[in-house]
Amino acid sequence: MPALMPILTDRVALVTGGSRGIGRATSIALASTGAAVAVNYLHSENEAANVVAEIERAGGRALAVRADVSVAADVTALIEAIEQQLGPVDVLVNNAGTATFVDIDHLTEVEFDRTLAVNLKSAFLCTQAVLPGMRSRRWGRIVNVSSAAARGPGLVGIHYNASKAGLEGLTRGYASKVAREGITVNAVAPGPIDTDMAGPLKAANVADRLPVGRLGETEEIAQAVLMVVGNAFITGQTISVNGGASFI
Ligand code: NAP
Repeated sequence: MPALMPILTDRVALVTGGSRGIGRATSIALASTGAAVAVNYLHSENEAANVVAEIERAGGRALAVRADVSVAADVTALIEAIEQQLGPVDVLVNNAGTATFVDIDHLTEVEFDRTLAVNLKSAFLCTQAVLPGMRSRRWGRIVNVSSAAARGPGLVGIHYNASKAGLEGLTRGYASKVAREGITVNAVAPGPIDTDMAGPLKAANVADRLPVGRLGETEEIAQAVLMVVGNAFITGQTISVNGGASFI
């Protein structure tokens, strides 16, 4: 019978953007199930070190690795560092993301390209880098952190909508290709979650407009990530965790 919680002892997980917010909570949650966790960061070196320290204090294994996951050479170096120090990646959580709040009249080509690179291309680069190893071992879990903005109006801007809708397309595409090889690929789509990224949403009192009447907590997203990592029969899905913001 399958375990009700994932047992990731002897597995290695990579969480992109693990230094803060949802990535931080997800790194700690994966470590609590036994995985050695690579905590990727770009700027927040101290925060990433704190996540590693928290995991180690609880008896786990973790490593902080700097990389801009929107840049192919950085991703290559990131995966090499993890393989050398922890082992090959079994669980990939493509969480790193950016959200510049800008309306259609002021959105520039530069911001559009940057958002697509950080939110979408990064997931392609990281997946391509770890997939051959997962296929050869016939086991892998990939979770892409999408957003309610992939399917709803969203609050950030159309560049963000497009990046997250693309991420869900990427999820379904990969899922269909590797399902027979012991690898699942899913998306978790948060609604507004109480992190640095949600600063403008807090200022606009978005919580009042949600059916549950509050923002989500990072651990509520981490819990959904653990759920799909632990379930080999869920693949190609988007799990919405959004306080009732939408019912699709
Ligand atoms: P956050 O608190 O702003 O944290 C963003 C994380 O991404 C940081 O760890 C940051 O690293 C990392 N990051 C950004 N660009 C990167 C890059 N190029 N390379 C590597 N790391 C990079 O955001 P969050 O709210 O936790 O968001 C996490 C994910 O959830 C994102 O994909 C976001 O779109 C999605 N999401 C969030 C919400 C929400 O309301 N918070 C809602 C829906 C979806 P450094 O700090 O080290 O630079």
